[in-house]
Amino acid sequence: GEALAVSARVAPLGSRLVLLLVEDLTEARRIEAVRRDFVANVSHELKTPVGALSLLSEAVMDASDDPEAVTRFAGRMQIEATRLTSLVQELIDLSRVQNDDPLEDAEPVRVDELVTEAIDRCRHQAGTKQITMATGGTADLHVWGNRGQLAAALGNLVENAVNYSPARTRVGIAARRLPATGGDLIEVAVTDQGIGISEKDRERIFERFYRVDPARSRQTGGTGLGLAIVKHVAASHGGEVTVWSAEGQGSTFTLRLPEAGSVRDRDRSRDRSS
Ligand code: ADP
Repeated sequence: GEALAVSARVAPLGSRLVLLLVEDLTEARRIEAVRRDFVANVSHELKTPVGALSLLSEAVMDASDDPEAVTRFAGRMQIEATRLTSLVQELIDLSRVQNDDPLEDAEPVRVDELVTEAIDRCRHQAGTKQITMATGGTADLHVWGNRGQLAAALGNLVENAVNYSPARTRVGIAARRLPATGGDLIEVAVTDQGIGISEKDRERIFERFYRVDPARSRQTGGTGLGLAIVKHVAASHGGEVTVWSAEGQGSTFTLRLPEAGSVRDRDRSRDRSS
């Protein structure tokens, strides 16, 4: 409606300009809708643990003469509090990756260091589930970008691989150089033998707050923000993240990033200094 009215008014200026204006309006409206959804989602996600904490604290008060029940409720309060903390942390991460220019303090980052950091992040959980972690090909590879953001991206992929896999399975992290046109790319693939992701869900898992199974994801402390962060980091570094999966067999998430010292980042630093 509005877009059409505008386009009628500026029509004499030429169809190219009209098209640009209409596209701008549509894009502005889409961004506004996404923002509104996001705020609604955040409110909902925050209300869930806060509501649970409030109910549980009432339960603790009612059960004051039953120490066992108090302990049980307190344990559940701790789970909700942890969940709330990780949600807030991920919101901060997300806003950080969206607002900061990742290439402002870009540097060559060793892939083996990123991988070690990602594994350390979920060492405890992997140990509890007796999941074996295997790495390969990471030596002597360097990607170009913001160390903190890259660590968050790979960390999320490895964390998911562990979270969505049954006990006594294997998570593999393999890196290699991909000779690509316009500059070399480094590929880091995280493969699990987990539950897999259906084709329908594969289209949506990179959306903020999208979870295939909210109940399961909540158990593992999931927020539905992890893959949105990964996607944002990949794109802002001039890379991408893709997924392959077979239900019941496992998934592979592949992160492709510009190699440090490649043609691309030399171009980029030239652009920035001029
Ligand atoms: P969450 O915090 O819920 O893990 P993510 O954004 O990281 O959120 O992932 C979104 C959803 O994608 C998850 O809830 C899960 O359903 C699915 N998913 C992500 N990684 C995997 C994986 N390796 N195997 C199976 N499902 C996965």
